[in-house]
Amino acid sequence: MAQLSDDCFAFGGKLLPVDDAVALISARVGAVTETQSVALDDADGRVLAEALMAPLPLPLFTNSAVDGYALRSADLPHDAARAFLISGRVQAGAEAGAIAAGTAVRIFTGAPMPNGADTVFMQEDVTVDEAGRVVLPAGLRPGANMRPEGEDLARGSLALPAGRRLRPQDIALAAALGLTHLEVRRPIKVAVFSTGNEVVAPGEIRAPAQLYDSNRFMLIALLKRLGCEISDLGILRDDRAALSVALSDAAQNHDLVLTSGGVSTGEEDHVKASVESIGSLVLWRMAIKPGRPVAMGVIAGTPFIGLPGNPVASFVTFAYVVRPVVLALAGAAAEPLHALPIRAAFPYKKKLGRREFVRAHLRIAADGVHEAVKFPREGAGLLSSLVETDGLVELGEDIERVQPGDAVGFLAYASLI
Ligand code: AMP
Ligand code: MG
Repeated sequence: MAQLSDDCFAFGGKLLPVDDAVALISARVGAVTETQSVALDDADGRVLAEALMAPLPLPLFTNSAVDGYALRSADLPHDAARAFLISGRVQAGAEAGAIAAGTAVRIFTGAPMPNGADTVFMQEDVTVDEAGRVVLPAGLRPGANMRPEGEDLARGSLALPAGRRLRPQDIALAAALGLTHLEVRRPIKVAVFSTGNEVVAPGEIRAPAQLYDSNRFMLIALLKRLGCEISDLGILRDDRAALSVALSDAAQNHDLVLTSGGVSTGEEDHVKASVESIGSLVLWRMAIKPGRPVAMGVIAGTPFIGLPGNPVASFVTFAYVVRPVVLALAGAAAEPLHALPIRAAFPYKKKLGRREFVRAHLRIAADGVHEAVKFPREGAGLLSSLVETDGLVELGEDIERVQPGDAVGFLAYASLI
């Protein structure tokens, strides 16, 4: 991290493109090294410390994919239906012997295939005659309706990569392989502050010109969804000395210190000066809207990020700056945000060279196509604009205008965490 600040001075007052910021961050932040073993029950959202190689194949044994009748493909009827003696019956969970040539075996979904049998007729496709024989139609493909051992995952192959932020389906795979615990990195510890004389905590006495702190609650919720352990350190006054003490203290026992507010260039924006006095700082003017300057730095070896105070700017810069830093610190593989194509239902003009985000909700238009509807107002302080929408339309640096009907990229809020 210490490297980061030096390099970034090169950017001076220039606008830093979003991708450059993310690339710089991801390349420089080191992951926490401590690991711990967690039971599968507690593994959701944790970061896998080492690659998991499959100790077993999946499926564990060759089995039937349907309820029906198994036979040897050598015996498959070719030109016309044929009656087969039913020589056995295998239920799921039971052991199967070998199949006798020229016969069929009654079998159920998930039951092991009898030795020699490799093809299964679905019970819906057959009849049983008066003599109790099963009549199998011609034309089934050899190997139909059975699941060979290892077709899902071969023994010894990569089951889960190191750095995977474990999802329910990843945990299911580990369970299917018979594991009870996984080795994960310890959660990262993040200190969160709000700043500003005008900011007061909900539940406290509010002077007429004060507003309730919303950023801290938003940022804490976002960080929790990213699996962080949070220290909620309250609100700091616009006072450089007090800020310096609080931020220095927080840097001692956290992996990341995060603030909102006070990073603009006004005289009462003291976060910058404070971090400069106790550590090193770069002020990034990111080419992003909404989102004003974002401060990044290092205090006593601990990364620091100062987000803008306006709630929407704070939210958007969280997704593009804090999220990649948190993932890198946590040892998680980078998870680039993929804006998926959707039809714009709005016109929009923007500045070339800047990435802009339009808050939008989704609807299905009369022709059945999904489209994004822009929130009518644009202020970076409008919390309702985040509450009443489904996500962000991401308009790249090279876009200058959008016409209704154009394809644009859409990021659902859920994809940002
Ligand atoms: P600043 O970045 O400190 O100049 O603040 C920009 C705007 O965001 C101002 O209108 C602040 O009142 C507002 N703001 C700052 N911090 C918060 C917060 N924690 N919650 C809600 N609004 C805030
Ligand atoms: Mg302020």
